[in-house]
Amino acid sequence: MSADKKNLSSSYTLEQLRHSTAHLIAHAVLELFPDTQLTIGPATTDGFFYDFLPTRNFKLEDLPSIEAKMHEIAKRNLGIEHTQMSKEEARKLFKDNRFKLELIDGIPGETVGIATQGDFVDLCKGGHVASTGQIQFFKLNAISGSYWRADKTNTALQRISGTAFFSKEDLEMYEQKKEAAILYDHRKIGKQLDYFSFHDEGVGFPFFHHKGKIVLNALRHFMRSTLQDAHYCEIETPAMLSDELWRCSGHYEFYRNNMYFSNIDEKNYAVKPMNCPGSILIYKERPRSYRELPLRLMEFGKVHRHELSGVLHGLFRVRAFTIDDTHIYCTLDQIEQEIVKNIGIVTKVMKKCGIDTLQIFLSTRPEKAMGSDEMWTAAIDGLKNALDKAGLPYTIAEGDGAFYGPKIEFKFTDSMDRVWTCGTIQLDFFQPENFNLQYVSSDGSLKRPVILHQAIYGSLERFFGVLLEHYKGHLPFWLSPVQARILTISEEQKPTALALFESLKKHLRIELDTSSETLASQIKDAQLHKIPWMIIIGKKEVENNTITLRHVDGKQEFGITKEILIDRIQQLNA
Ligand SMILES: [Zn+2]
Ligand SMILES: [Zn+2]
Repeated sequence: MSADKKNLSSSYTLEQLRHSTAHLIAHAVLELFPDTQLTIGPATTDGFFYDFLPTRNFKLEDLPSIEAKMHEIAKRNLGIEHTQMSKEEARKLFKDNRFKLELIDGIPGETVGIATQGDFVDLCKGGHVASTGQIQFFKLNAISGSYWRADKTNTALQRISGTAFFSKEDLEMYEQKKEAAILYDHRKIGKQLDYFSFHDEGVGFPFFHHKGKIVLNALRHFMRSTLQDAHYCEIETPAMLSDELWRCSGHYEFYRNNMYFSNIDEKNYAVKPMNCPGSILIYKERPRSYRELPLRLMEFGKVHRHELSGVLHGLFRVRAFTIDDTHIYCTLDQIEQEIVKNIGIVTKVMKKCGIDTLQIFLSTRPEKAMGSDEMWTAAIDGLKNALDKAGLPYTIAEGDGAFYGPKIEFKFTDSMDRVWTCGTIQLDFFQPENFNLQYVSSDGSLKRPVILHQAIYGSLERFFGVLLEHYKGHLPFWLSPVQARILTISEEQKPTALALFESLKKHLRIELDTSSETLASQIKDAQLHKIPWMIIIGKKEVENNTITLRHVDGKQEFGITKEILIDRIQQLNA
């Protein structure tokens, strides 16, 4: 860190720097395009923007010249002054700008703040660096449309956004991460690798191609066998259920704007946005005994939720997705053992996905909550004891639980420093009460079970997208749609390659490169498709009855026999 940066960043906040950079862009735009009307220019979480009413629309090609002008003004090292001015004077100053006049009217009191640098003035409540010379490391990123006061019925404006940092290194790091995020955007990878696509004919509903479906199936298969081993029972419930059920569960009241409705035989139905009510109907189907508890009903439940088109984002935010959704019906005493089990499963599943470090959050009773103090205390103690038994550190999110119960959330930080939730277990006192769930206890009396809602991948589709970005397209071996491809050096090895392909295909997902391209271009193509293994056969390999194993990172292993290879595959797929 340079001494300058240290001084600057200890004297000012990033917000002050970025807000000052917003003034700087307004100043530059006015010098370049004098008739532009200025509106507002705040700092944002990762930069700043300024909204303009230009005389002609700005284009991306304008950004370099605006940036250059900003640097020029910065070099003038103008002092940034902030003073108070009477509203009357300010109205005169901004008499030709109806936006500023409107802002002045909205400010309480008799005076308003004015920022001045050289001959540039702006209405402003303050918070700047000392001079334009302190603004050195900034970048303009985008031009987008906006509206005055974010209201579509108001004047359409143009927003130029950018960011600023105290040092060159910080700006560069920001740009690298931004480039990586663009480069490894799962939407782009999904298209390149033929995994999935989106179509206007079904906005927000992903289409999974054969290779993408292989990944989803692998995720599903692993979860299914893990949960089966842990004595979970798989069920399936209908995609559409009657209106009355959704009214009873409370979804109709609180969630109907996100639900799709239909009418069958003059009865109203809704497509399920959640799987809980369906599972509950199975629980209620007959009287339950304490001997059956805990009853763990799991379902790969596909839900549909109406999301606004503006918030849709690849597989991260869709209108239809599948949840690995378990509802555990148990007694208050069984919560702890179930959580211990759940922690074990989450850890195992995430480890299999290559995620070793999890952050755990325990959300406790909010101010407004249902259920007795006793129930809450017992439940939270159960959760804490389970976490302590597992020896895992956790953070308590005091009062962050839902009104109907506390929850545990597992999160991980990906390779681009973004935090994702991978696993939640939510306790629920409400639905058992709501649906009058019961079990016959050992003394013959009727008691109320609690429900634990458990999801580990959460949305399988979203989890797939997260893994794609985290691994920059290189999925772990067991998830790769094509795990290996056989390459040959010349035509002569093709018969050996075909025989090997036939004998390996029951062990892994394998392809045979039948092209007559050079080995170098065969390798390049396999790398492009992010295939983890290249099995190379040349003259020497045929003679020795071995192969050369080339990994996607370029590492090569020579003289590998078929037996060693199969052994390796079994380990990796295990
Ligand atoms: Zn200001
Ligand atoms: Zn649920």
